[in-house]
Amino acid sequence: MKLALQKKTKIVATISDYKCDVEFLQNLYETGMNVVRINTAHQTPASSMKIVENVRKVSTKIGLLVDTKGPEIRTTAMASNAGFEIATGDTIKMLGDPNALSHREALYVNYAGFVGDVPLGAAVLIDDGDVQLKVVDKKTDFLLCKAQNSGTLRGRKTVNVPGAAIHLPSLSSRDVEYIGWAVDNNIDFIAHSFVRTKDDVLAVQKLLNERKSRIKIIAKIENRQGVENIDEILDCSYGIMVARGDLGVEVEFEEIPGIQKMLIEKCQACGKPVIIATQMLHSMIERPRPTRAEITDVANAIYQRTDAIMLSGETASGAYPVEAVRAMSKIAIAVEKDLQPYERQPNVGIQDKVAIVLSKSAVQASRELPIRALVTDTYSGHVPRYLAAFRGKIPVFALCYLDYLTRELSLSYGVYCYPATPIKNNDEFLRYAMRFLRDQGCISNSDMVAVMAGNCYSKGATTYLEIGVVQNLISELNQEAYYAL
Ligand code: PGA
Ligand code: MN
Repeated sequence: MKLALQKKTKIVATISDYKCDVEFLQNLYETGMNVVRINTAHQTPASSMKIVENVRKVSTKIGLLVDTKGPEIRTTAMASNAGFEIATGDTIKMLGDPNALSHREALYVNYAGFVGDVPLGAAVLIDDGDVQLKVVDKKTDFLLCKAQNSGTLRGRKTVNVPGAAIHLPSLSSRDVEYIGWAVDNNIDFIAHSFVRTKDDVLAVQKLLNERKSRIKIIAKIENRQGVENIDEILDCSYGIMVARGDLGVEVEFEEIPGIQKMLIEKCQACGKPVIIATQMLHSMIERPRPTRAEITDVANAIYQRTDAIMLSGETASGAYPVEAVRAMSKIAIAVEKDLQPYERQPNVGIQDKVAIVLSKSAVQASRELPIRALVTDTYSGHVPRYLAAFRGKIPVFALCYLDYLTRELSLSYGVYCYPATPIKNNDEFLRYAMRFLRDQGCISNSDMVAVMAGNCYSKGATTYLEIGVVQNLISELNQEAYYAL
């Protein structure tokens, strides 16, 4: 079996228009990248076009994820990328004006109501908390802040005020524009930032419904409200991202591991994809090898049974992007060897109990028999997602009858997709599926496989599980040989 098919944990890589040539993307894809994330905080729809076009030149199976800004605060742009240095005790003036450029004398943020919403004495954390300021004086149109540590203030960096009630709407006008662009360009996922309640998700869903879009929403959990309202948020979302960058400054940092564990467990229980994000291999932005702590962080996310792990600056602007994806792939393959499938039944698709029970049986069978692959076909993506929800030790090969499903399933653990056309006859389907996957190098003649599909009268529903050796399933003489006995 091909090495790329041995990794089950999916990798999301953030790509910027500065570095998105086809050769580079091809390299990342072959190394294990499954989804490309476009961070709209650093892109425009026009610059994102280049990324999308080049990703599609590499493979139509790479999922495309557009990350909105949501109700997020950032510093405004600066004339110089280098920013400016500050020392502990320095006084910095902060103002709210999305259209002003930040400079040494005044640090602007993109939210006009900022000064009004931030109380005297509040902590203001810049750039994922790298620089901490304290509000020491509040005037009508600006805040005076004192630096609590030395560091560099740069343009377009995150600004968090833990505990402050920030009265930004669910969607900025830029988010609305970007979501429209995502619909026009057949993007697969919208990851919406700073989801606080289900209403933030529903605001995005409403836009998508108006455009009759099939785009799936990933709710980014990155503040206390999002954590507290996780159940209602999960009910309305396709999946979630544990956005540890902002989360780590919005809550006490020592709470992150527990929150991560809780969020992964919630997603597992309902069979929805979960992405662990931010600083997974942060030091690889500058260095070719990860730190021991980073290796263990990636491994632990996989031990906790995440579907996907994410790279941000490591691939968007770092010096060692391919090495970072390779490091994740190597860690994933090593850790996955240790993992055993779940027995637990996910809550998803209670409307499709038969498919859930069959999926569970298929994964269970793979523990007791030398089965090398789970094979299924799909019109909706449900069955491959159920199979993923049980986290088997062997890959799931899904023949997809709708082209976009090959990308929609790019976040699901252990699922590998191939576009296909439906075949009405059960036997013909089996033979076709086996030959096709064998030609793709996924399975070989002597492999035992478990196939889940629907009989031709079941109108697309999954009705059976067949377990056999590939060459026997392919053999056209099967029936005659049987009746000759
Ligand atoms: P961001 O989201 O990179 O868009 O801020 C991820 C995070 O906050 O961890
Ligand atoms: Mn964030």
